[in-house]
Amino acid sequence: MCGIVAYLGEKEAQPLLLDGLRRLEYRGYDSSGIATLDHGVLKIAKKKGHVQALATHLSSTPIGGKIGISHTRWATHGAASDANAHPHTDQSGRLAIVHNGVVENYLALKHRLTALGHTFKSETDTEILAHLIGHYYDACNEPDRLLKAVRAALREVSGTYGIAVLHQDHPGLLVGARRGSPLLIGIAKDGHFFTSDVMAIGGHAGQVIELKDGDIATITADTHAVTTIDGGDADFIVKQVEASEAISELGSFPHYMLKEVFDQPQALRDAFRGRLDREASTVKLGGLRMTSEELRRIERIVIVGCGTARHSGLVGEYLIETLANLPVEVEYASEFRYRNTPMDPRTLVFAVSQSGETLDTLGALREAQRKGYRALGICNRVGSTMPRESDGGVYMHAGPEIGVAATKSFTSQVMIFTLIALLLGRMRYLSAAQGQELIDGIEALPGLVEKLLAQNDAIKKVAEKYHKVRSMIFLGRLHHVPVAMEGALKMKEITYINAEGYPAAELKHGIIALIDEETPTVLICPKDSVYDKNASTLQEIKARKGPVIAVATEGDTQIGTLADDVLYIPDAPEILQPILASIPLQLFAYHCAVLLGRDVDKPRNLAKSVTVE
Ligand code: GLU
Repeated sequence: MCGIVAYLGEKEAQPLLLDGLRRLEYRGYDSSGIATLDHGVLKIAKKKGHVQALATHLSSTPIGGKIGISHTRWATHGAASDANAHPHTDQSGRLAIVHNGVVENYLALKHRLTALGHTFKSETDTEILAHLIGHYYDACNEPDRLLKAVRAALREVSGTYGIAVLHQDHPGLLVGARRGSPLLIGIAKDGHFFTSDVMAIGGHAGQVIELKDGDIATITADTHAVTTIDGGDADFIVKQVEASEAISELGSFPHYMLKEVFDQPQALRDAFRGRLDREASTVKLGGLRMTSEELRRIERIVIVGCGTARHSGLVGEYLIETLANLPVEVEYASEFRYRNTPMDPRTLVFAVSQSGETLDTLGALREAQRKGYRALGICNRVGSTMPRESDGGVYMHAGPEIGVAATKSFTSQVMIFTLIALLLGRMRYLSAAQGQELIDGIEALPGLVEKLLAQNDAIKKVAEKYHKVRSMIFLGRLHHVPVAMEGALKMKEITYINAEGYPAAELKHGIIALIDEETPTVLICPKDSVYDKNASTLQEIKARKGPVIAVATEGDTQIGTLADDVLYIPDAPEILQPILASIPLQLFAYHCAVLLGRDVDKPRNLAKSVTVE
């Protein structure tokens, strides 16, 4: 969650840190802050609200210095306020720290420190950690006492952290450490960085070192060193920063979400590029690191994820069961990691996370591995924790996704599951001709999405009609059940309208009680094998005077006479339709949110990648 940027080198720190915070803001944005050593004195500025509030404050009261740490927060302990914003200081006021994660035993530590005379200014767990480091610092006299103090304190912490620490008595040194929350060292010509996300330092640092859990690092203007929190040696790899990891440009789009919706034709192409094997009518996924024999031996698949990623897994369940006839189970990652899911020895696990850092999903992946299962990752961020820890996987190649509401990552994940289903299917039941047909369909999809996006204005008109409602229902059948759930999630996340997605047939088992003239239903009913069933559902809603917005296939004139409004999608093979059907729902939610004046890219209470439990 949230973001860390720290710098020391030849340049002024404040502009670099503010620039980095702006780029990281999508990860947490309830408050932000910065600390530097200005003429050798620790100076701190922090403000509730978006990074702009901090920037405005700093423009009238700048703080100088060529060393500094900064943070954008997603509160876990204590409200969003100036006092709870990071950096936090220790008892002496000479040490400052920024922290991503949660100190789980902070109350016990707080009691201990209080008994020693420490007093606190915030409600955060982070401030306790600052005091604990300060406590060990004061008790040590050795030259590397800052590193030693951070080590000693972290050994007593249970929970997760990515941290950067600054001390007034060490004007040429920063200490960083990670466990459970990402942290990287950035190497630039003029200095060194710590950051939680390479995107913050793209264009400034040419190389990075991704720290591993349990690593502690020190940086000076021109050196870096990595050891372990336990005091051992740590090996590390210096990597070049890829251009794709640098900033994502908004271009002429008013919001990242809209840009990313329009990125989808390209994101889909990038998801299947180089992976379709026309000759063998199948798919090549080298990253799985499994032989054909191993893939053939699988008897069951478990997919774990959270939020949108889990919804993509639910589409994956339909795809794999339909094309490969393999039983698939989709689990909430947060549940899987703590419950004892019965697993068959020939089970393969897929963990899905756009960021590759979602803590619940990483927890589920580790739990599967602990039990001896092969666990593969599906993720977007190259160099994140998931590809490092999984036994193999598939990258989405969707490019950076900044809007907090996931859009292109959903359709890319569904595309990856389509490829996996085709691969497994061709090893089992699908003929070469069926494989070929699917490959044709996959290759045609980006063009169909382009066509669909041309209806943006028409979708906006529908949003103008409905954006003021208090609640909405989303319905679909079969592979469109998860699309309905994802459509409802988008609506909730960015408009705050109460919205729920269900299988259409569930309507009559309870949900129908909600139908009235004020509660619109979005019904996904393209021309597919359950078209007639959906048409009956539509009639049932209309009989109770509920407004219906239908997602229907272009050229379907019947639906237009029954539904109040229609969002059209191009025709495609049934198995590939979820990608198409999800896009008008993204745009519908987007336009409703804009019309309501919501902060589309930074909806309240949310953050992009959830790296706390
Ligand atoms: N637990 C800390 C807090 O509430 C850090 C949260 C974060 O990761 O931003 O301040």
